Amino acid sequence: MSHAHSPVIPRPVDAVRLDGGRLCLDFVNTIHDRYAAEQEDYLGDPKRFIAWSGRAGALLPADGVSEPRAAPRRAALMEEVAALRGHLHELFAARIDERAPRPDAVRGLDHWLHQAWTNQTLGIDGKMHWRTGKSDPQRALQRIALDALDLLGDPAPSRLRRCANTTSCGWLFLDVSKNGRRRWCAMETCGTAEKMQRYRRG
Ligand SMILES: [Zn+2]
Repeated sequence: MSHAHSPVIPRPVDAVRLDGGRLCLDFVNTIHDRYAAEQEDYLGDPKRFIAWSGRAGALLPADGVSEPRAAPRRAALMEEVAALRGHLHELFAARIDERAPRPDAVRGLDHWLHQAWTNQTLGIDGKMHWRTGKSDPQRALQRIALDALDLLGDPAPSRLRRCANTTSCGWLFLDVSKNGRRRWCAMETCGTAEKMQRYRRG
């Protein structure tokens, strides 16, 4: 049976896996999967994006974010989501593959970092704080950008990895295991699939 033309029905936001180990990696992993001809985008509309952001920690209840109503603003938001996600994937993939990232990806992250800093202010405690009051859904992208900067700027030997499932995943994760030999985004998904394949090959 061919599934080539079956539409991809997105799973509920609550069922989206957060296996990246970092907010910015979970964001990049909202495409399933990187090798598929027809990809499932977990963040297909503003409602899903905002719900996912709340679940993943990119938005907090105190942010007071609500879904944009006007069609142009909704479309613009989703374009921004897709663009930053693509740029971060490029930046992390470049790091993993030990090559220079595309300049447009660097500029893309740079843009959101400046948006984030514009929306923060230095407190008397010497720390940066988000400005209070109602914020727009772009606050999520700003938080994700700051998390990405933190990860990319980490001078420690990189534990940033790509899932070893090279046929149907492509997710990225931070390996925080003690021995540093984690291979899968998740054992119960990709790890098990590989074991089954080896078993069938005998
Ligand atoms: Zn995987």
